[in-house]
Amino acid sequence: MTLLVQKFGGTSLGSIERIKAVAQKIKTCKDEGNDLVVVVSAMGHTTDQLTTLASGITLNPPQREMDMLLSTGEQVSISLLAMALNELGLQAISLTGTQAGIITESAHGRARILEIRTERIQNLLNQGKIIVIAGFQGTSLGIGRISEITTLGRGGSDTSAVALAAALEAEKCEIYTDVPGVLTTDPRIVKSAQLMKRISCDEMLELASLGAAVLHPRAVEIARNFAVTLVVKSSWENLEGTTLTSNKKHIVSKGGIEHRSPVDGLELIEHQSVIALSNIPDRPGIAAELFEALSEGGVNVDLIIQATHQNNKNDITFSVKEDELNNANAQCKRLIDSIGGEISSQNNLSKISIFGAGIMGRPGIASSLFQTLSDAGINIRLIATSEVKVSCVIDSASGKKALRSIGDFFKLNDKQINLNPVSKDNHEPEVRGIALDKDQIQISVKNVPDKPGTASIICSTLAENSICLDTIVQSERKHNDKTKDISFTLKKNDRNEAKYALEELIANWKGAIIEEGNEIVKISAVGSGMPFTKGTAAKIFRALANKKINIEMIATSEIRTTCIISEKHGEKALNEIHSCFKLDNNDID
Ligand code: ADP
Ligand code: ASP
Ligand code: MG
Repeated sequence: MTLLVQKFGGTSLGSIERIKAVAQKIKTCKDEGNDLVVVVSAMGHTTDQLTTLASGITLNPPQREMDMLLSTGEQVSISLLAMALNELGLQAISLTGTQAGIITESAHGRARILEIRTERIQNLLNQGKIIVIAGFQGTSLGIGRISEITTLGRGGSDTSAVALAAALEAEKCEIYTDVPGVLTTDPRIVKSAQLMKRISCDEMLELASLGAAVLHPRAVEIARNFAVTLVVKSSWENLEGTTLTSNKKHIVSKGGIEHRSPVDGLELIEHQSVIALSNIPDRPGIAAELFEALSEGGVNVDLIIQATHQNNKNDITFSVKEDELNNANAQCKRLIDSIGGEISSQNNLSKISIFGAGIMGRPGIASSLFQTLSDAGINIRLIATSEVKVSCVIDSASGKKALRSIGDFFKLNDKQINLNPVSKDNHEPEVRGIALDKDQIQISVKNVPDKPGTASIICSTLAENSICLDTIVQSERKHNDKTKDISFTLKKNDRNEAKYALEELIANWKGAIIEEGNEIVKISAVGSGMPFTKGTAAKIFRALANKKINIEMIATSEIRTTCIISEKHGEKALNEIHSCFKLDNNDID
């Protein structure tokens, strides 16, 4: 018999009628001869409603009590669905996360799954039962082995389902939801969003962590690491949906479902150059003009960084291969001659990168990378972060030393470490999907010392408070007193805690200040063909310029380009970028 894990989200279980319809769907699948483990979320908006109840009592509820409260939502749906299945003559039994043996760490509200003790589930499956399990929750063994109910974080039922599929070695994990699958962007904002038949786990990890709510990023991380076949499809229509593809070589041992070392590769790419344009005008269209000129001149730009602007002037920094430097310099010079500003460039640089699923979701990882470089006395010229990769551009003279120190720190073996790997064009689309993240704020720490270790200490201070940073940008412009600015984005929820932690830190740095940016959103285009295509960033910047939208910050990684823009332009920008890559064509593979 084939074992399937199926997950039904809140909207799919929003009413008794829908629960009955889901039960019918499960019956059809069982009648076809499959073994079934069904994971469910709370009905409709239950989790939001429970949160609102709590906020009527306190704005600062103990996390343990929030977990006690929120976990009740899923308990309602498992029991009702099990009853509906029994009504249809099927043998079904409901289990909470604890009863299902889902063991998590003890961090309330954001617990990661350590292991799943599957004996009870296996026994029930052997008896031919359909097992209905509460998603989003587990149990920590806690201090002194006193078990406590934990929750995994909003949207976490997807993660419960994929973790169960990995632990039970299920044939497939199917996520049933209120859209036909993963679309090129959020169909609630862009009506012409199209269904993708397939998407790689790396691309989906980026999209999910950049705001595409259709999948919890940690679910994608587990699917990638355990090579779980993951399909997202509609709860209502009988369509194929979207299949996530993963590179089988990532399969790791079954221990520590979400607790393995997230770094599984390290590479150094030599012969890199960086060009920095400073004091260029801060107005819509400048970035578009620059990167169009570079693309038309045949230059393939790798990383791009634009920090927050000052006095109506911007700095844009980007990296290219060493042999493209002269050409790139010439293109930039031509532009600077007409718009004003200064240009400087540097050769003999290398890019060092760590890989692994869910790197940015674990705040300690990037900070350990920066710390290791700083301990080795290596200054970081540029930083690029993504869910699957963090890169730093450094002096090439320090390259081998960096490789050794980082390899040792993350305990990587020779096979995991690569020097100048050749990447082959995969002929994948330059942009497969676009995500809009409205849940971010932008913070700058200004006038910080320009020396090795500054980025690291900022990140580790926040990491110690479990705050994840994203889009970290170091400004190129140094102030007269040899200080510089570092900007980043983080989740709105983490604002206050981040500010307290940073205020304590900067008390040691004379003149340093913390500044919160305007209301922003983050818009990101993701595609694994991006590194092989010239001019992708230019198209994004042009789409924004056409709508007179100014770009506050730019940050890229290999397979994504992110722009931070004013909140009021978010949805317009999403529509514009979506159509500029012709994603509304309905013949997407
Ligand atoms: P569920 O309750 O089934 O878990 P969610 O609300 O968590 O459902 O996720 C589905 C929603 O994700 C969709 O209704 C859609 O608005 C949103 N969404 C955002 N980005 C995308 C995307 N790229 N593809 C599909 N849906 C998306
Ligand atoms: N019920 C939880 C939430 O609303 C978990 C989930 O739906 O995946 O976040
Ligand atoms: Mg969801």
